[in-house]
Amino acid sequence: MCGIFGITGTKDAAKLAYVGLFTLQHRGQESAGLVTDDGGTLRHHAGMGLVNEVFDNAVLAGLTGRSAIGHIRYSTTGSSHIKNAQPLVLNSCLGVVAVAHNGNLTNADALKAKLQKDGAIFQSSSDSEVILHLSARCPGRGLEDTLAKNLPKLAGAYAFLFMAPGLVIGARDPHGYRPLVLGRLGKSYLLASETCAIEVAGGKVLREVEPGEMVSIAGGKLRSRRFAKAKEFTRCIFEQVYFARPDSVVAGRSVQTARYEIGALLARELKSVKADIVSGVPDSGTVYALGYSEESWIPYQTVFMRNHYTGRSFIQPDQGLREFTARLKLAPIRDVIKGKTIILIDDSLVRGTTSRKIVASLKRSGAKKVIMAIASPAIISPCYFGIDTPNRKELIANKLSVEQIRRYIGADELHYLSLGSLVGACGSGKDRNFCVSCFTGKYLEAL
Ligand code: AMP
Repeated sequence: MCGIFGITGTKDAAKLAYVGLFTLQHRGQESAGLVTDDGGTLRHHAGMGLVNEVFDNAVLAGLTGRSAIGHIRYSTTGSSHIKNAQPLVLNSCLGVVAVAHNGNLTNADALKAKLQKDGAIFQSSSDSEVILHLSARCPGRGLEDTLAKNLPKLAGAYAFLFMAPGLVIGARDPHGYRPLVLGRLGKSYLLASETCAIEVAGGKVLREVEPGEMVSIAGGKLRSRRFAKAKEFTRCIFEQVYFARPDSVVAGRSVQTARYEIGALLARELKSVKADIVSGVPDSGTVYALGYSEESWIPYQTVFMRNHYTGRSFIQPDQGLREFTARLKLAPIRDVIKGKTIILIDDSLVRGTTSRKIVASLKRSGAKKVIMAIASPAIISPCYFGIDTPNRKELIANKLSVEQIRRYIGADELHYLSLGSLVGACGSGKDRNFCVSCFTGKYLEAL
């Protein structure tokens, strides 16, 4: 999972792209990078860490130019290393081209092996470089043509931003797994993973880039073309479950509203469950808990204080500090917890390690009972399309029954939301078709 942002035709390109990336920070904290187009010269800066750690005023001042594309990385494929920080910039017979990618290509290894056999030398271990190598070997009349010819060779999930002198291109895979939206700010066009980034940058959201669509912006004009036959949208439902910011709109619905409704549906499904208070694991669980509270008439209370300032320095502390990190991030509010039966909502349960720690923390703080309620179904199958759910063996719901998981996490009860309720709250009509393979184990394409 990653975040991408692009802007064209403004003297403030780098600054606005910084704002866009800063707004998308929740989508990845590993690395950040920007490339600007300064009259045909691509300027590049990327580094490990948060957006405000990678860029300062001096760095931004050096990123001159009227267009920019940027990326923040949450590693899924490729190791955590500066050489995998994007955008990647490559020189080839296509000229200099930068690429920023959100998603995961399921045939990257096979394509890469074939390209390497032909002599290709890869700069990074991420799968995103493959499209440029393919394109350099099979050029068309211009970059747009070349990409239109080569993008259909990719399988899996992608939202891409490309930059070449005088040109910015956005492309979305034929299923529309990963998000990409188009916006406008004055005469500038914006492309972003989420609508919140376009709005915070001061722009207006125009529409989503369609599945299999490529949009190109050159000389202030936008062109659209299809590089693949339009298929039905199959957006990743994990955007609504966990990834997207609540002030974004996904599949035509406010994420905040969808999560509130999911919370209410969870309450309806758990009608017979009695408790003193309902709460959420911050931040993502909070909205679900508010929806649950309204529907069930069980009062909402905050049971954990989240410290938002645990930047990169606290993500990998030395061994001695490691045990503090959970408490540093989430501190229990004892007075609220003591003697209570608590329904605690989290968006998802993946390995079970978070729930186990959180339940233990509530019990240590004197909770009478902890009822864990998950705002999504059990994750039984890995994601091959860019969400960092681990391999099958690490998914607790793939190995254990609900009762066994309950015992492992130490809760008094454990409940999951049904898939029908989740899908119903996330979209309607033609926007009701989602990728839910992590919950069903059924994939659209053979892998
Ligand atoms: P786990 O401890 O493995 O069960 O992870 C579940 C917790 O991680 C939940 O609190 C989620 O909010 C969060 N989460 C779910 N999916 C992801 C993801 N792909 N990356 C990071 N955190 C996640």
